[in-house]
Amino acid sequence: MIAFVCGVSFAQAQHFDNYFVDKTLRINYLHIGNKNVEQLQIHHFTLVDHWNGTRSQLVEPYHYGDILVEVLDDASQKQIFSRSYSCLFTEYRTTERGETEIARMEECVNVPMPKQPVRLRFTSFDRKREATVLKDTVLDPANLPVQPAKKEYEVMNLHKGNSPDNALDILFIPDGYAKSDEKLLRHDMKRFAKYVMNCSPYKENRRHVNIRAIEGYSEQSGITQPQNDIYVKTLLNCTYNALDLDRYLMCPGVWNLHEVADDAPYDVIIIICNSEKYGGGGIYNFYCTVYNHGQYPDYVIVHEMGHLIGGLADEYYTSEVSVQDFYPAGVEPTEPNLTTLVDFSSKWADKVESGTPIPTPPVGKGDPNYDRVGVYEGGGYVAKGVYRPTLHCTMNSIAYNDFCPVCRETLEKVIRYYSR
Ligand SMILES: [Zn+2]
Repeated sequence: MIAFVCGVSFAQAQHFDNYFVDKTLRINYLHIGNKNVEQLQIHHFTLVDHWNGTRSQLVEPYHYGDILVEVLDDASQKQIFSRSYSCLFTEYRTTERGETEIARMEECVNVPMPKQPVRLRFTSFDRKREATVLKDTVLDPANLPVQPAKKEYEVMNLHKGNSPDNALDILFIPDGYAKSDEKLLRHDMKRFAKYVMNCSPYKENRRHVNIRAIEGYSEQSGITQPQNDIYVKTLLNCTYNALDLDRYLMCPGVWNLHEVADDAPYDVIIIICNSEKYGGGGIYNFYCTVYNHGQYPDYVIVHEMGHLIGGLADEYYTSEVSVQDFYPAGVEPTEPNLTTLVDFSSKWADKVESGTPIPTPPVGKGDPNYDRVGVYEGGGYVAKGVYRPTLHCTMNSIAYNDFCPVCRETLEKVIRYYSR
């Protein structure tokens, strides 16, 4: 019989305690380069009380992301922690501007604070999944210059499940809400928590999810729109027109974002932007944004959380995007809800009923086969050569609470990963 301490087996807890103390070390760095060159420069370290992430699977199983950070015990070279995530920089490299112009983008990653010297390794994967080691360095915790995290903000509890060590901790951070918007901020945080918890598979996993919000106010109300010459002083300085795409709403100040987030336990950060202009964005294990007014914020938040939490791809292929050749031919995408049929058996082949033609011809709404899982051509921003699991899904069109079986199962697995 295995002994469990707060849902973590004794062996797993021992693994954590052998190598780590109950604190979070944040590595803040700059990701520099363009299509042809890439560099990672560590800028500073932040030390935060408590490690809120999972302790049962310190080596992450999914690897959906473009960056892999690994911590190895320096004495034995054993891998003791890993996490994969994606970043805006990888998308930038596939844009027209990214072909020549050098960008310097803030990024950071949280790892548990090691007890002994460790080897820290960052590996970047390009769209063809070719790996480049960006940094391989030894960190000695005894001599590490760390800045302590500051506590500054009140925290709202919006949905309570298990303890932070055994749940997916979702943190909302408002941006562009002035002090005069206090009532709206409180109302919005509650409203967005309901959008999440009323959507499958979050609603079936209520006890595996926590939602909190930072009560942080901005100097001014609204969100920056550079293409309309609107500039607003806000807590996080979020802005539209990221990568020159009008609706792409991103937060360039990633280090400040995490400093604000430090006041509450979190696994993932969602920025709620006070703006009437349609927009949002979500990057796997990085952060996501959503606008608060208008017709579709319920759909936008769960769609962007699909990118953020599940590493899910966009299944649509008709809207304007700034990335180019994002899913190169001959390469199986890492995202679980797209295939190029290079390695379909690693995807949702087990969900396709025998006799279903591959590729599967599309049918109209009302057809008895409209809901069936198949292999439908079109997805990941292109009409040809990339395939998606179903004809309708929240990752495809503006439809709230309509994740296809493949996306739903992926999200459910990740929620359970955090809650073990
Ligand atoms: Zn889907």
